[in-house]
Amino acid sequence: MNTLSNKEYSNDFVNAFPGDKSGKTHPRQTPGMLYSLVVPTPVNKPDLIGWSEDLAKELGIENPQASDIEILGGNLVTTTMQPYAACYAGHQFGNWAGQLGDGRAITLGEWPMHDGSWEIQLKGAGPTAYSRRADGRAVLRSSVREYLMSEAMYYLGVPTTRALSLVSTGDNVLRDMFYNGNAAYEPGAIVARVAPTFLRFGNFEMPASRNEFENLRKLIDWTIQRYFTEIKGEDKIVRWFGEVVKRTAKMVVEWLRVGFVHGVMNSDNMSILGLTIDYGPYSFLDNYDPDFTPNTTDLPGKRYAFGKQASIAYWNLGCLANAIAPLLKDTEPLGKVLQGYEQIFWTTYYEMMGRKLGFDKVYNEDIELITQIEKVLTEVQPDMTIFYQLLIQFPLEKVDSGLVKTHFENSFYIQPDEISLSELTKVLVAYAERIKKNNISISESAEIMRANNPRFILRNYLLHQSAEELVKGDDKLFKELQEAIKTPYSNKWDKFMVKRPGWASQKAGCSMLSCSS
Ligand code: AMP
Ligand code: MG
Repeated sequence: MNTLSNKEYSNDFVNAFPGDKSGKTHPRQTPGMLYSLVVPTPVNKPDLIGWSEDLAKELGIENPQASDIEILGGNLVTTTMQPYAACYAGHQFGNWAGQLGDGRAITLGEWPMHDGSWEIQLKGAGPTAYSRRADGRAVLRSSVREYLMSEAMYYLGVPTTRALSLVSTGDNVLRDMFYNGNAAYEPGAIVARVAPTFLRFGNFEMPASRNEFENLRKLIDWTIQRYFTEIKGEDKIVRWFGEVVKRTAKMVVEWLRVGFVHGVMNSDNMSILGLTIDYGPYSFLDNYDPDFTPNTTDLPGKRYAFGKQASIAYWNLGCLANAIAPLLKDTEPLGKVLQGYEQIFWTTYYEMMGRKLGFDKVYNEDIELITQIEKVLTEVQPDMTIFYQLLIQFPLEKVDSGLVKTHFENSFYIQPDEISLSELTKVLVAYAERIKKNNISISESAEIMRANNPRFILRNYLLHQSAEELVKGDDKLFKELQEAIKTPYSNKWDKFMVKRPGWASQKAGCSMLSCSS
């Protein structure tokens, strides 16, 4: 075990690539550079609000003492750290946005482990070369969201970056939450997040767009060598891209399993390791609406709606393919691998749905039933999480509309009309028949369902409430949520297994969110 302050950090990324070493924070383009060195801007009074004990144990990090909290607040940089902001580009809402970069995230260093290392990054640590006109800070409400949700996703079994700590800064930050000219001060915070690497598709798009092919090749080689160690040989770039395709498809399928909507799937928010990254205006689905986007900025086109995530991931993979194509003599194999996404996605998706529904395996005929179930759920829009929980206990005998109505009562936001109820009943009759054909017992099937359908999800209104209470000095709900996320498949936290309350459906921050964070 080491403390954050006595650990010897490595700085492999900084040592491997050209970077801007001036340390200056004025906004600028940094052609030829993959990062800019920058020291976090000190804060008034860092106070530890959240600490992820399990993660710390996994990484061998001792519980933080005063000097460690200074590190987590950006007030202390130890001698072996070479903090930097990464330079990346990206496509935002379908448009090329050019250089973006870490405008408020600063990597302190890499935490060496016996089998690789983990990047430790402070989000909200002050301006960098990539902050443009923004302040490099983060508010408590968005930091609570990132801190709790990254860990919640981990315990749900969804690939994700992790969050080690949440620190309030003692400084206020000015934010125009609704982008309507009513800016107000809010308490600031910093999340220390960790991942093997925070490299995104956008890190590869950056040198490609600048025709810096040597940097691009070096970055790809480095990434493969460190994070895709099994890939070697002549065709390694294409095979590596194939692995990114696979991991991305798998990540999206996991989002769909638990009802997660990312909300800002820009190519700079797509991890090269297939991890969920950048927790902004995300949400879980309450009512099952594939057309739901939690991001107010996304409202006109709903590009990032729940049901569009699979095709947007494909679109982003296309951006990545475009970025690496100039390195290949023959781009046809790359195109083929990209085209393969659809098949990988659907196969993984139906296997996942089979487990969600408690099937022994997915047969061809099941696909029609799965489609029907989704269609009727879209129409009735029950609470997704509660519906699947109730489905686990669904009596398979004598299914009729009366039974369906009472059994699923607690999941309905609006009482289904007669036509929808009869559609739902029809589908559930077919479902009951299908379950009876399983080559596994009813209890084995229920076991599979329990392992694949979360019972506790971190709903936006709970996050909103916990942040509001924290600001007032009450950490009870925050602490409860910090525990509840650890056992999402158990009934331990059933007090939270209720539909989104009526008041939360219109309240900002409880259903939809802006990007202001
Ligand atoms: P996001 O939508 O959070 O992925 O951010 C898009 C870009 O804006 C990234 O380059 C961020 O680093 C940058 N950014 C977002 N918020 C801030 C902020 N408060 N200060 C500086 N840069 C920011
Ligand atoms: Mg981002």
